[in-house]
Parts: sequence; C-alpha cells; structure tokens
Amino acid sequence: MKNVTIKAIIGGDGAVGKTSLVRAFMQDEFKKDYLLTVGVDVTSKSLEIGDAKVILSVNDIAGQPRFETFRGVFFKGAAIAFLCFDLTRDQTLKSLTSAWVPELATQSDPNSPIHCVLVGNKSDLEDLRSISEQEAQAELKKMKKSFPNLKFIDYIETSALNRKNVDEAFSILTKAFLKFKGML
Ligand code: GDP
Ligand code: MG
Repeated sequence: MKNVTIKAIIGGDGAVGKTSLVRAFMQDEFKKDYLLTVGVDVTSKSLEIGDAKVILSVNDIAGQPRFETFRGVFFKGAAIAFLCFDLTRDQTLKSLTSAWVPELATQSDPNSPIHCVLVGNKSDLEDLRSISEQEAQAELKKMKKSFPNLKFIDYIETSALNRKNVDEAFSILTKAFLKFKGML
C-alpha cells in the first residue's frame, strides 16, 4: 500500500461554513492536531482509496484572516483546495473570483497544479438561495478560463448542517489528485 499525505486548504469568506464542513467531514475522527499561532487549524483524517493510504491534512483559517499578508503562507504547499461560498450570499462567490482564486493561482505550479473544487454550501437553505446551480457552473467556467494554472475539477453543492455531499466533495477532489499523480 502506498502512503501519501495531501495538504488540503479550505478557502472562502467568513461564515460560508468552512469550519462546519471540516467538522462534518472529520466527524468522530475529528482530531485537532495543532493550532498554529498564525491562525490555522490543521486536522487530519486517513482514507483508503484504491491501494493508497491517504492522510488528508486539512487547513482551515481560524477566525478572521488578515488576508493580504497571510494567504500566501496558508496556500503554500497545498495540493488541493476547497473553494467555498455561501449559496445565500452572492458576494461570497464574487470574493472567490476576485480575491481567493487569483491569489491561489499565483501559488500553483502549472506542472503540478493545485486541484480545486468549487463548493456552494448551505444547500439546505433552499428558500434563501441567491445563486442558482447554472450561475455557479458559469462562474466555474470563467475561473477555468481565467486561471489556467489551477485545475478545476467540479462544482458541488453541500450542506454541512445535514452532511449532504460532504464526503463526496472530499472524495471527488482527493481521487482527482491521486489520478493526476498516477496513484489511482
Ligand atoms: P466559517 O467562518 O467559514 O468557518 O463558517 P462556520 O463553519 O463557522 O459557519 C458559519 C455559520 O454558518 C454558523 O452559524 C454555522 O452554523 C452556519 N452553517 C455552516 N454550514 C451550514 C450549512 O450547510 N447550512 C446552514 N443552514 N448553516 C450552516
Ligand atoms: Mg471557520
């Protein structure tokens, strides 16, 4: 069995549900490894995928990030990224396109691009939804065009509240990365 450790980052504006998604994914396995003074929570979970044993080390910004100086450090060494927005707040998708994604792209090596999934969270709040699936898909298409340094895998709608599509989001992205590395 091959062992691989993958650094995952969870990006997106405050209160989109980043920490809730990580908690839902980690569940009982939730294990806080350390809280760095720079303000990042790192938790890890091991998964068996194909004949690989994967340790997913998930990096989540704790509290309010002081963006400009901070994001570069946070992104460093990331193999995969969950780019999260809140389906009930348009601005959170715009922030990905204008701030998070361009900065992530500068940290990505085109020969070994950071693999990304666009995550629309809070799908349980159907009545408050302000971004349709088509709009999110269209935005993803634009991101693919504008940031060829990154590898966008998919768009997925999740609910951290009722755990909908949470495992799927993590597994789709992890599998895509392993395939890229020839490990799956
Ligand atoms: P973060 O700042 O991105 O880490 O967001 P948090 O995980 O702290 O969540 C912010 C708020 O949104 C909290 O009140 C959560 O309970 C709520 N929240 C997170 N995910 C969901 C979801 O899928 N559905 C609903 N209805 N609320 C959510
Ligand atoms: Mg948080």
